[in-house]
Amino acid sequence: MSAVHTVLHDIFGYAAFRGPQQAIVEHVTDGGDALVLMPTGGGKSLCYQIPAIVRQQQGHGVAIVVSPLIALMHDQVGALHEAGVEAAYLNSSLDYAQAQEVEWQLQCGKLNLLYVAPERLVTPRFLGLLDDLFAQGQLGLFAIDEAHCVSQWGHDFRPEYRALSVLHERYAGVPRIALTATADALTRADIVERLHLEGARQFVSSFDRPNIRYTIVEKKDVTHQLMRFIKHEHEGEAGVVYCQSRRRVEELAQTLQDNGIQSLPYHAGLPSEMRQLHQNRFLREEGIVMVATIAFGMGIDKPDVRFVAHVDMPKNIEGYYQETGRAGRDGLPAQAWMAYGISDVVNQRRMIDEGGAEEAFKAVLRGKLDALLTLAEATDCRRVRLLQYFGEASEPCGNCDNCLHPPAIWDGTDAARKLLSTIFRVHEMSQLTFGAGHIMDVLRGKVTDKVTQFLHDKISTFGIGKDYSEQQLRGVMRQLLATGALGLHKVTSENSGHVFDTLTLTPQSRAVLRGDVQVLLRESVAATRSRGGKRGATTSAAAMHLGPDAQARFINLKAWRSEVAKAHDLPAYVIFNDATLAGIAERNPQTLEALQGISGIGAKKLEAYGQEVLRVVGASR
Ligand code: ADP
Ligand code: ZN
Repeated sequence: MSAVHTVLHDIFGYAAFRGPQQAIVEHVTDGGDALVLMPTGGGKSLCYQIPAIVRQQQGHGVAIVVSPLIALMHDQVGALHEAGVEAAYLNSSLDYAQAQEVEWQLQCGKLNLLYVAPERLVTPRFLGLLDDLFAQGQLGLFAIDEAHCVSQWGHDFRPEYRALSVLHERYAGVPRIALTATADALTRADIVERLHLEGARQFVSSFDRPNIRYTIVEKKDVTHQLMRFIKHEHEGEAGVVYCQSRRRVEELAQTLQDNGIQSLPYHAGLPSEMRQLHQNRFLREEGIVMVATIAFGMGIDKPDVRFVAHVDMPKNIEGYYQETGRAGRDGLPAQAWMAYGISDVVNQRRMIDEGGAEEAFKAVLRGKLDALLTLAEATDCRRVRLLQYFGEASEPCGNCDNCLHPPAIWDGTDAARKLLSTIFRVHEMSQLTFGAGHIMDVLRGKVTDKVTQFLHDKISTFGIGKDYSEQQLRGVMRQLLATGALGLHKVTSENSGHVFDTLTLTPQSRAVLRGDVQVLLRESVAATRSRGGKRGATTSAAAMHLGPDAQARFINLKAWRSEVAKAHDLPAYVIFNDATLAGIAERNPQTLEALQGISGIGAKKLEAYGQEVLRVVGASR
């Protein structure tokens, strides 16, 4: 067996590399530079950890890992310790004496990997330490995690990353591997230029996350829809629910909690100790639902997040894909669920219109929003559309709502024309614009006080839409708004001073009115679909395929794991992840030999936990 395979097998306990891992690991171990683009959950850590270990075995010295996420270094280093690897971190969370201890370990060659924050790395003091190691030939590797932070085009620019160009100049010949999960062509080019990786081999993986199931539903009573989704499909599992506003976060977290779903709020307005506490609980305890604004999630490495839900629509596909990408990093089935409705379109449009950006930039923002709306309205494979957005061609996936339950489609062209002409007539008659509710009443021939007051029951289109359900007409309205064939106009009420949105025609309305454009819509989801049966409450994604006896073992193993994790002050998955526990439960081992070879059990873990695991398995018989 080659050295890299031996490390994969003995230290990490895995049988085989995944996707491009092997090529990357071999290239970097041989001293090559690399730029790695891999989606979240693809397995980036091993791409530098294994070269770090093998290069040290070969006498090249320590690997320096640059990471911007101070909060996570502790867990990453803890995971390496669990696997029996000498690792440490240096960041502002250490006091002076602790930092000195780490520096000392570094100097005497006791460390295999050192995690360091970028601002710390470029201090004269730290560079001095590196200079000494370099002079002794004891600098084995640089790994630059979250490499998109170096680029202004990325979504998380960190100026201190720019200073990392020093590595190339100062430590020529030491291999460098830069890794990121998010980089379009522009960002990628920027990373290469800023970090001087012109000579690096690029490893670009598919951005597909096949284990994530995408579902986008029409928003009705979103709180209930969400609760039904969680209770029916993710009872007792960890998830993240994204909301647009802080107030909504707090309300929804409370409502879920009141309804027996363990949940915590997280947004930038909460005191930092509370945010820290909630994040820690989410990472360390099982089955917590985090209700959050987008302030939450960057660098959250929790692999067993089983669902990400959006109760409000994000701003663009980049945001949506990044947020949903936090589900299922462990490769087990996970879901991305979003509810979207007309108010989302209205709100997002308004935020752009009222934002301080320049007009040209606003146009870009609108374009990005439209792409997301198109995804939401799509009647064909969601994944094909998502990947297409990132420049990747693919076939229908069989694992999104539209593939699994192809929506019935109806031709809404006639309804759309009737809607637009009603708006036109109403405006023509009253020289005023009206909100969606009133237009709907006129279209459906409902005599309300307002209708009588404005004599709108006298116009020619009064009641011409009564063959359509309100839901159908709302669908038409939403799609016309989404495609820009219907516009919004803000009006201040003379009586109350309230500002509200009214509907107006736009230049694009004409083609629809003339019947030049076909308007195809999805049939209301609720009417065409009934949900599958409820999954057993205790079944987790990893254990779904297990029989009842193995299920019992799995549950006992989980209980044992959470005790160990608590004692070590580490998240449970660092001890063994769900897939490993399921593997143990399935194999039902009686001896250490039988335990060996289960994916995720390396030599150190076998030694540390083997007997305990056998005891737990035995007690479940
Ligand atoms: P990323 O940093 O790309 O999001 P991670 O490095 O955290 O991904 O890996 C995601 C998960 O996949 C982890 O639980 C890791 O242990 C697991 N994993 C990575 N490589 C392999 C492999 N070759 N075989 C089995 N599991 C793997
Ligand atoms: Zn699909």
